[in-house]
Amino acid sequence: MSFFVVEIALPLPLRRTFDYLPLPGETPDHYQPGQRVRVEFGRQLLLGIVLSSRNQSDVPTNKLKPLLARLDDTPLIDEHSLALCRWLADYYHHSMGEVLEHMLPTMLRRGCELSEADERVWLKQADEPAKPLRGSKQQALWQLFQQSPQWPHSELTTQGFSLAQLRSLADAGLIEERQQLPLPPAIQENQRFHSLNPQQQSALKALEPELHHFRACLLEGVTGSGKTEVYLRLIEQVLAAGKQALVLVPEIGLTPQTVRRFQARFNVPIAMLHSGLNDRERLQGWRQASEGGARILIGTRSAVFTPMPDLGLIILDEEHDASFKQQDGLRYSARDFALVRAHKAGVPIVLGSATPSLETLHNALSGKYLHLKLSQRAGDAKAPSMKLHSILHQPLTAGFAQPVLNAMHKHISDGKQVLVFINRRGFAPLLACRDCGWMAECRRCDARLTLHQYPPHLHCHHCDFQQGIPAVCPQCGGQHVEGIGQGTEKIQDQLAVLFPQVPVRRVDRDTIRSKQAFDNLFDDIHSGGPCILVGTQMLAKGHHFPDVTLVVVLDADAGLFSADFRGMEHSAQLICQVAGRAGREEAPGEVWIQTLYADHPLLNLLLDSGYHALALSLLQERQQQQLPPYSHMALLRSECEDRTQAQQLLQQARAFVQQWLQTHSGASWQAPVTLLGPFPAIMERRNGRFRFQLQFYAAERSVLHRTAAALVHFLEQHKGLSKVRWNLDIDPIDTL
Ligand code: ADP
Ligand code: ZN
Ligand code: ZN
Repeated sequence: MSFFVVEIALPLPLRRTFDYLPLPGETPDHYQPGQRVRVEFGRQLLLGIVLSSRNQSDVPTNKLKPLLARLDDTPLIDEHSLALCRWLADYYHHSMGEVLEHMLPTMLRRGCELSEADERVWLKQADEPAKPLRGSKQQALWQLFQQSPQWPHSELTTQGFSLAQLRSLADAGLIEERQQLPLPPAIQENQRFHSLNPQQQSALKALEPELHHFRACLLEGVTGSGKTEVYLRLIEQVLAAGKQALVLVPEIGLTPQTVRRFQARFNVPIAMLHSGLNDRERLQGWRQASEGGARILIGTRSAVFTPMPDLGLIILDEEHDASFKQQDGLRYSARDFALVRAHKAGVPIVLGSATPSLETLHNALSGKYLHLKLSQRAGDAKAPSMKLHSILHQPLTAGFAQPVLNAMHKHISDGKQVLVFINRRGFAPLLACRDCGWMAECRRCDARLTLHQYPPHLHCHHCDFQQGIPAVCPQCGGQHVEGIGQGTEKIQDQLAVLFPQVPVRRVDRDTIRSKQAFDNLFDDIHSGGPCILVGTQMLAKGHHFPDVTLVVVLDADAGLFSADFRGMEHSAQLICQVAGRAGREEAPGEVWIQTLYADHPLLNLLLDSGYHALALSLLQERQQQQLPPYSHMALLRSECEDRTQAQQLLQQARAFVQQWLQTHSGASWQAPVTLLGPFPAIMERRNGRFRFQLQFYAAERSVLHRTAAALVHFLEQHKGLSKVRWNLDIDPIDTL
């Protein structure tokens, strides 16, 4: 048999692949791209993915090690997915092995068999017992099989039935045990269909002809305009054509409401993939979608990797949402990846948002994407009225201006619900001494500790450091140590005093720690009755609260003067999302925004003319400054306990790039790369490490990518500053 080696990708940050010798007696035919193998790497045992087999290696034969095991006969990762991984590895300048890790659910990465997604189920085999059943337990068990012919084993044991009882029914020939993948049940509730309004109809009409090929579409529709209704109609057609639909939603958007709406509408199995699942459930969802059993997959960011054999449509809702961008490791954008995936699969993709990102809007305005708009709320709901309320030189009660409190009283006495938005959890953002000016600071970050009262402690929101609250000032020994400013806890306390007649609920990461807590809160809010909700951005997104008619935004100013060039875009998106919670049903909604800068021109533009108008103005600014989307950007970040070294690495990177550009930018390269930095990050020290960044801007993407590739190669070879961690972020969504 002729000599050959197997090329393998390993889950290591190294941007290269590794050659191993095949198992004894195996031929190249045994090795197909996408199979899992086990190998020894140094002293570690790793699971790798076969990329190819070839008859020569760069490694001398006596240095090659044999594989330990081949886990799959047929590849787990199909060719199409492998091609997508290659694209990701190239585009994000990341190791192929780490990219491939994203393709598989954790259990498969650990070497489990696909069949471990199977569940033990019991199936009914007969209509009547041949002789009467003895014992009430036996009868109760049989009763269950009369109701439904199939039961998962786990469900029967939680209902108190034992294996012995099941076995005895099986011995009587009444039921039988099987292993099978539990497909999510198709639930149909015969939900009433809305007839589409004229705007929805014309959007649907424009989208229908695009269902058979690749096309990127932006559905820009104000909150409550009925975008989801349009998605449902499209999915209906895709299902009827025998295809699958992939629906991607932000983390927070995966509420029971969304899922229920899909389940109620379609009589097909729907798989789900989100962070609330355990490893086995993830494997099940993955397998259901990738074997084609599930016809719809609803999931968050990482669901974009799930293979779907009959993919016919991708929907990505709230496309501007930051949760679609992974912020560590492989810093991919699920939105951008979904676009590439749709393109390679030849299927349409619909991006939906009330407040599209400037990148997407630019693509839509320039004609690259099909651009559809829904400018009015669907059904009977009207857009809320929005007001800026200046608090300059105004007396405040518990942080609220009197007219705002009056409005709250009015809505409450009308039996409605009020939502108060403040994007700061805890009691107060700062603990300070009134005598000497001391402030409680984090020892590991350039940040203040947040005062929490429930339970009482000081907490760093950046590195999670926690400590007790000092009784006296650690600097002067004085007694006047106090919380300054306000967070959700304090506002809840104060509103409870001002509005003793209604419940005041707090919704933030501290009160809502589980999906169950969220579901409970939802049920509470939906059961109606006047109340006040005080919450962070957790409350802002996607939810439908039928009785909320007033939204108060307490600290709109924080985002107006951000050091990041996307600050205004992001705060406008957040304000619109929060405002969109008001008046979702017949009762009209009102939004009050308290601000010190009631003259702020962009804030006024947003309120008077809406997000789209503001976005156009921001796009103009970006064009003047040649910032994204009018240029392409990458960010090299470094961090190290030693400040000088963190900075030095970026200085060396900069010097390298400058030299590289000089030697490589000939006449054919008209668009050079602009380098800015190194700068310290806005929070220079976090979790004990100093952080710096170097920014790259280029008019042409290809130039940026060639530069980035050379830079990554340089940094990998670079020895001297080995303590410095670095990462390259392509298309970063912030520079903080
Ligand atoms: P979006 O996704 O744009 O926020 P939804 O699709 O969730 O909007 O619709 C908002 C509300 O309007 C929902 O309660 C939905 O049931 C309702 N709705 C949607 N389309 C119509 C329609 N054509 N007629 C009446 N009500 C509608
Ligand atoms: Zn003091
Ligand atoms: Zn800290």
